[in-house]
Amino acid sequence: MSKVLIIGAGGVGNVVVRKCAMLPEVFSDICLASRTKSKCDEIAKHTKTPIKTAQVDADDPKQVAELIRSFKPELVINVALPYQDLPIMDACLETGTNYLDTANYEPKDEAKFCYKWQWEYQERFKEKGIMALLGSGFDPGVTNVFTAYVNKHLLDEIETLDIIDCNAGDHGQAFATNFNPEINIREVTAKGKYYKDGNWVETPPLSESRVYNFPENIGDKKIYLMYHEELESLVKHIPSIREARFWMTFSDNYLKHLEVLQNVGMTSIQPVKYNGVEIVPLQFLKAVLPDPGSLGKTTKGKTCIGCLVKGKKDGKEKTVYIYNICDHEECFAEVESQAISYTTGVPAMIGAKMMLEKKWSGKGVFNMEQMDPDPFMEDLNKYGLPWKYDIC
Ligand code: NDP
Repeated sequence: MSKVLIIGAGGVGNVVVRKCAMLPEVFSDICLASRTKSKCDEIAKHTKTPIKTAQVDADDPKQVAELIRSFKPELVINVALPYQDLPIMDACLETGTNYLDTANYEPKDEAKFCYKWQWEYQERFKEKGIMALLGSGFDPGVTNVFTAYVNKHLLDEIETLDIIDCNAGDHGQAFATNFNPEINIREVTAKGKYYKDGNWVETPPLSESRVYNFPENIGDKKIYLMYHEELESLVKHIPSIREARFWMTFSDNYLKHLEVLQNVGMTSIQPVKYNGVEIVPLQFLKAVLPDPGSLGKTTKGKTCIGCLVKGKKDGKEKTVYIYNICDHEECFAEVESQAISYTTGVPAMIGAKMMLEKKWSGKGVFNMEQMDPDPFMEDLNKYGLPWKYDIC
């Protein structure tokens, strides 16, 4: 019997809540809380088992702690925005409650994400005897577990890692992002960065690209080098890795719109005065773009996210490609979501399940690759994200 408090009623929150509510033997009591309670109530109408809902401003650790004290969950699943990671972790510390999220902290006024801020909670979580599991989405999340699985079972030593994220779906809109537009555009317009021989190498935004041939009829797609947070934790925890990169596909149409929006200043996070009111252009842009949670109905096609890992097995050079393919329309049929929210929400549910079943446990702050990949990989197959690998 385990109670969970889920914070954030967006695209990802909808999937986590519905998936958790399908497993009452693990998640016996669920409360969904968010800034706008009506969004929680709307999701609650569609869950397999009944859930509670609440209003909370998760920027305020006191409000979160108060909610935790009244609901008494064993675990808080944070699927609000990265800005809320630290206030929610503070509330977990204050109340002695376990914590899980899907994206690392970034300050609102600087588009810079890194694990430093959350890793600094290590000693305090340890002393309190509680666990924080960071980045339990797909990337970060499943990609970390895929890498740990390859490291445990398929290669003796990993040398290079390329994480490749392909969304070959089409939502039929002129321009939309497939998760929170503010966070997405901050990430995509940032400089690229990869790890090589102990150093981080920076590249101008989206300046490096190549064509990659994806499996199962997805075919050739252009992939662009970006920085992604799991690179930071993976090279720390798997020190044999000497090169680690992250790549993502973008359509020409997405890039064309993004370029224009950037050129006219709409992606800026510097406040401007408009009619006497201070507004942040990127936040205004988010308000006029389609809500990613609403794209499910019209999105067709597949995602393919995986890791291309090179290293040695029994003294021989080997290459492993391990990946999941997810179909947008199948996700919508199951939980009324497109595949991006689905591929994030399902691993958040599985990470929480690992913690509640004590298959993953510890005191302190952990990244996914520090845990045994096997039970998580088993559950990916059971709960909607089957994986495959090729080795040569
Ligand atoms: P959405 O914008 O759809 O949802 C965010 C939700 O958080 C909204 O319901 C919003 O409330 C709520 N929220 C925002 N601020 C607060 C606050 N101060 N207090 C309480 N609730 C708040 O985002 P997504 O669902 O697309 O993304 C959720 C998270 O998942 C993000 O952190 C994102 O970075 C992460 N993610 C991770 C991925 C991975 O693979 N690891 C992939 C995709 C996303 P309101 O409705 O009032 O705005």
